[in-house]
Amino acid sequence: ACDLDAYALELDQAHIFHSWSAQTSAHASAVSIESGLGSRVWDHAGTQYLDFSSQHVNVNLGHQHPALLAAIRTQSELLATISPPTANITRGEAAKRLAAIAPEGFNRVFFTNGGSDANENAMRMARLYTGRDKILSSYRSYHGNTGSSIVATGDPRRIPNEFARGHVHFFGPYLYRSEFWAKTPEEESERALQHLRRVIEAEGAATIAAVLLEPIPGTPGILVPPAGYLAGVRELCDQHGILLILDEVMSGFGRAGEWFAFDAFDVRPDLITFAKGVNSGYVPVGGVIIDDPIAAFFNERVFPGGLTYSGHPLATATVVASLDTIAAEGILEHARDIGENHIGPGLGALAERHSAIGDVRGRGVFWAMELVTDRQTREPVPAATMARIRAALVTRGLLPFVSENRIHIVPPCVVTGDEVAEAMAIYDEVLTAELA
Ligand code: PLP
Repeated sequence: ACDLDAYALELDQAHIFHSWSAQTSAHASAVSIESGLGSRVWDHAGTQYLDFSSQHVNVNLGHQHPALLAAIRTQSELLATISPPTANITRGEAAKRLAAIAPEGFNRVFFTNGGSDANENAMRMARLYTGRDKILSSYRSYHGNTGSSIVATGDPRRIPNEFARGHVHFFGPYLYRSEFWAKTPEEESERALQHLRRVIEAEGAATIAAVLLEPIPGTPGILVPPAGYLAGVRELCDQHGILLILDEVMSGFGRAGEWFAFDAFDVRPDLITFAKGVNSGYVPVGGVIIDDPIAAFFNERVFPGGLTYSGHPLATATVVASLDTIAAEGILEHARDIGENHIGPGLGALAERHSAIGDVRGRGVFWAMELVTDRQTREPVPAATMARIRAALVTRGLLPFVSENRIHIVPPCVVTGDEVAEAMAIYDEVLTAELA
């Protein structure tokens, strides 16, 4: 390592308070990064890493995309900030483009600073619109870090944060570790829907404002739902006057090979939340795309929510540039091709060589491999081994996304077939060294 990397780590240790971590271990595992390009990043010493986490699964267009940098440069020279009540062409163009990729009848966008507050405001809209209180969401979910979003989150990060009321959880489909003793995708879908129906009845349908779901739960393990599940949830919502909020924060904008992951399924939500890949995280932004009847509800009623940086011009300039680039460069098609012809087959080949790989699943550039100590019992590889695997991947030049007993394969959508092959060779080496 060079002096500047040591200095970066020293500053980090002395002054940075890290997310979701005990500080000592966060400081110990920090990696110094100075620069990036496409699917790669470098430290000051010139050590190269393949970024197979896309940072926080958000750098969909890769690092330092020229169109995004140009958008920031141009907008910053014109006007670097403006308050939310103002009419501004950059903000309007970003909203117009989001409306254009959403289903028919979604015409308005409420901009936020990220995904957590996008969900926070979608839940607020749903509660006001329905006059009901409860939000139903999956135990296997992550919806964000703020008041209601962290309590809507199902994973254990929720538990020390349970200060918001009106949140109820249920189990979604996950055939590999079925809660419903299912053996086939059809059984899993049918039984997960029956379970949700019973939760709705037991909670009292008339108290439920919305079901909040990631169409493909991301952080919990890229849990691609079986055919018919999302349509079934929509049907249950319709039967009971419950809104459906689909959280596309991680799954949208090319990640699943679609504009929105739900485009691959037969379902229409009432509210769509977004962030991350909408502008590859170059400037913080998120928001809610709102179905017309819900937007119209607030025509003569005050919407009691807002943010100083709602529709920030540097953020919305990068949204315009990102959406135009995704269309112009055929990013959705490329992500699908990478999933079908490179990552999918690559993981299939790895699974043949390593009995520790219990399951692989995904689509587009949104995949997971699940590591087990025994394919029969499906016992997860322990946390200490996963920590060693993570460190070994970094040492071999790959920045991984590791969660519980899984490695998520989530490179930028612009990743090449050769880069996927390079990553597969690194996974292969590390699994051989650490699990043989
Ligand atoms: N929703 C989903 C599905 C996410 O994956 C995340 C972040 O990982 C969020 C919401 C929260 O977004 P943010 O961290 O931008 O607030």
